[in-house]
Amino acid sequence: MQQLEEKIRTEGQVLGDDVLKVDNFLNHQIDPELMYAMGQEFYRLFQSKKITKILTVESSGIAPAVMAGLIFKVPVVFARKHKSLTLKDNLYTATVYSFTKKVSNEISISKKFLDADDHVLIIDDFLANGQAVQGLMEIIDAANATLEGVGIVIEKTFQKGRQLLDEKGVQVESLARIKAFENGQVVFVDDK
Ligand code: 5GP
Repeated sequence: MQQLEEKIRTEGQVLGDDVLKVDNFLNHQIDPELMYAMGQEFYRLFQSKKITKILTVESSGIAPAVMAGLIFKVPVVFARKHKSLTLKDNLYTATVYSFTKKVSNEISISKKFLDADDHVLIIDDFLANGQAVQGLMEIIDAANATLEGVGIVIEKTFQKGRQLLDEKGVQVESLARIKAFENGQVVFVDDK
């Protein structure tokens, strides 16, 4: 997606060898028009599927997921990383190792928001090693729901996530695909 690649080029910051900081428009401050354009793009990519629900993980997946939900006209459920007084029983849970925080978190979704009739589109902000998506897939399995596809805002193709999901036969569509970081610059898969 050209508009997103431009935004990453102009506002993204490469940190170390493998992390991209995009807190200007996605991970802290949010650009609603860009989010809406992403929602439209996810709709274009998955419109042939029968989607009844969109699943994501708090917090950075929520903005693009809600925009997609608006266009698909389906509810959006985000897995929560912390249990609370209001979220402690009747949960599906999975353990996810966080690439950026280097710790394992338990993610949870209330059983009342996912069931065997659901056809699910997963949306997340980044695909690195695929742990967040895998956790959501475990939850979808536990609910006997059907996974229809995975939509990613920014994929880093040099990490293991894409291969992991390809091996499981999942349709993965990413709006920007990063091949490498070179001298602090982002190189996209479709760069010449
Ligand atoms: P994975 O589970 O695929 O290893 O990592 C995906 C999760 O880690 C995303 O939900 C995102 O929050 C975070 N993440 C992975 N790589 C990056 C990155 O380069 N930049 C930022 N800001 N977050 C990332």
